[in-house]
Amino acid sequence: MNHMSLPNSLWAATVAPAVDTPALEGERKADAVIVGAGFTGLSAALHLAEAGTDVVLLEAGEPGWGASGRTGGQIIPGFKLDPDELVATYGADRGERLAMFGGGVADTVFELIERHGIDCHATRPGWIQGVHAARRMDLAERRVEQWTRRGFQVDLIDAAQIAELTGTDRYPGGWIDRRGGMLQPLSYSRGLARAAIRAGAAIHGHSPATGLTRAGKGWRVETPGGAVIADQVLLATNGYTDGLWPGLKQSIIPVFSYQVATKPLGDNMRQSILAGGMPVSDTRRLLNYFRLDHTGRLVVGGRGRPRETEEPAFYRNIVEGLNWLYPRLGEVELDHYWGGQVAITLNHMPHLNELAPGLHAMIGYNGRGVAMATACGKMMAERMRGTPLADLPLPATPMKPIPFHGLRQPALAAAVSWKRLQDKWESRGG
Ligand SMILES: Cc1cc2nc3c(=O)[nH]c(=O)nc-3n(C[C@H](O)[C@H](O)[C@H](O)COP(=O)(O)OP(=O)(O)OC[C@H]3O[C@@H](n4cnc5c(N)ncnc54)[C@H](O)[C@@H]3O)c2cc1C
Repeated sequence: MNHMSLPNSLWAATVAPAVDTPALEGERKADAVIVGAGFTGLSAALHLAEAGTDVVLLEAGEPGWGASGRTGGQIIPGFKLDPDELVATYGADRGERLAMFGGGVADTVFELIERHGIDCHATRPGWIQGVHAARRMDLAERRVEQWTRRGFQVDLIDAAQIAELTGTDRYPGGWIDRRGGMLQPLSYSRGLARAAIRAGAAIHGHSPATGLTRAGKGWRVETPGGAVIADQVLLATNGYTDGLWPGLKQSIIPVFSYQVATKPLGDNMRQSILAGGMPVSDTRRLLNYFRLDHTGRLVVGGRGRPRETEEPAFYRNIVEGLNWLYPRLGEVELDHYWGGQVAITLNHMPHLNELAPGLHAMIGYNGRGVAMATACGKMMAERMRGTPLADLPLPATPMKPIPFHGLRQPALAAAVSWKRLQDKWESRGG
């Protein structure tokens, strides 16, 4: 099997037809070149092309091959940091701008889907965050208070309401963010690719960027079959960042998220499981996330081992999570097991790095990138067309390789076991 073929995910099994993205052959010039065709790169390419920029997008696999085509597809507004935390960290002015930008990222997704007629089973019933322990209901209360103060429609829900909407009684309460929703992420990726090509972008699949060097006042990006010379470059490689630009890979921690999908649930179960139609994530340190797809399959995800595998034995934690949520499902048959890599940052924020004149990186969504990466791709298109940094919502930060990066994976594995224990202890009322 070609290692760049799609994983055996539910999304690959139910996806809309692919667009033609032939490998790059030969050398060409462009205004801008983007490396990585996930939501970040696809959205940037689409917005650049719509604005009249001659843009080339290079992808090692195919559009959506990375995390974007494998996600839970949950459209979640906001950053990992709550609005008031953004204000405390960045000051009133920048913090409020960031909060409003984060609050609007789901709108960006739904507007794009509508404007380009993207067929990706998108629904917008809202998004639920379940609180994992009664004594942590403050998490939901403060999120609801902070978003309500800023004029967004969010609601606190108690144990009975969350049980009715989700069909599990594991949560003492939570909150609903009415801006959220869900989609079929690989179909969305392909839809963005189709729209970008229609707008004039060139997308080349199976074209890994293997070299990045200065060429006059611009850059030369090499692939095995050719090269692109352009003034502006965007690295949009997130959890799959390689050694193309020294130090970038070491500025994030790649972490694996795994999912399983059941066979379509029977009518009985469908009436009681996720009857509200909303996707759900919880507030655990190692969160559970789950949803139905458009055929009534239950899709459940969580943190995986640090390796890419579809071997069911490695999905024990995820299946345990599924049984914990819905014990009445019993020994339910699972059809798909798949995972992918997300990029964690030490400050829990996405990183916009200006690496050199004309060379940008936009990575680090901390496992919450369906909406945020789409919106950051749009923002990077503006930056590459000359918008000053000061006018962007997200501040640029210097790229900082994490010290002792090589040690992080084992240290992370130990931290993951510890976090899992803490989650279990709190859920039991400890
Ligand atoms: C299992 C899983 C579930 C998730 N669930 C959710 C969810 O429900 N909601 C949510 O908001 N977020 C979720 N996420 C996170 C979300 O998927 C990511 O944050 C988002 O997709 C990142 O998009 P991206 O475009 O930045 O990166 P990616 O989609 O990872 O794209 C990066 C691309 O860069 C390419 N690349 C790397 N190096 C090179 C090179 N040298 N040359 C050419 N191409 C290269 C890779 O092939 C890859 O396709 C989940 C992630 C995973 C893995």
